[in-house]
Amino acid sequence: MDSKSQTITPIAVAQTPYRDKFGIPRQPNLVSKAIGKIWLNAPYNQAEALAGLEAASHIWLIWGFHKAPPGQTRLSSRPPRLGGNEKLGVFATRSTHRPNGLGLSVVELIEVNLEPTPHLVVGGIDLLDGTPVYDIKPYLPYVDRVNSASHDWAEEAPQKLTVVATPQFVASFLALKSEVEMSLIEEVVSFDPRPAYHRDQPERVYHVRLCDLDVGFRVDDNSRQATLTNVIHSTEGDH
Ligand code: SAH
Repeated sequence: MDSKSQTITPIAVAQTPYRDKFGIPRQPNLVSKAIGKIWLNAPYNQAEALAGLEAASHIWLIWGFHKAPPGQTRLSSRPPRLGGNEKLGVFATRSTHRPNGLGLSVVELIEVNLEPTPHLVVGGIDLLDGTPVYDIKPYLPYVDRVNSASHDWAEEAPQKLTVVATPQFVASFLALKSEVEMSLIEEVVSFDPRPAYHRDQPERVYHVRLCDLDVGFRVDDNSRQATLTNVIHSTEGDH
């Protein structure tokens, strides 16, 4: 192997509620109800590869932005947290357009399971369904939790929207008998998935796809309220 580049191969694949990139929270751990499974690939799909991992409450996932739009890596991007108006260097952001297309997420390790094949159950995941995972490491609080750490413009989690549902939405949701919990829908929408440049269209209906559902919602920026308007079964997605 040459010392300058190396080939990496997925060791696992993520199964998550997110069927579309739209709607995925912009960082992990925001939506605690987003439960996913990390299915190990051969030859790592054996008890030996996971022995002892259960000691960790959280793990790091190193994964691939495999559905990022193709094209050149950009040297800069406009983080949604800054309203999409300010351009920052690629290495100053967590943008998906980056040189080696690698994502990094801390997630809660809920369970290590060996049946039917070895997999991890994780909480607070921010990966698209079907995302390749390149490595898994335990989160070590004594080094990874830096008490003195700070960040000038992303110190706190983003402000959440209040989420309400129309009676029609509630009736359709109950009739569909999906495995998706209402609390997952509310959490996802509360983090306002809309792109920054759309935020002046209160009548516009946006759609997020979670597991087998397509959820429609609109947002009133004056009251900072999102309204769930309609929900249907949907099995399509960009995964
Ligand atoms: N926690 C990660 C992700 C930050 S970017 C990191 O810091 O590296 C977050 C965005 O990644 C989400 O809004 C989602 O739309 C996008 N995303 C998630 N999985 C993806 C995938 N497989 N391909 C492309 N984009 C993905």
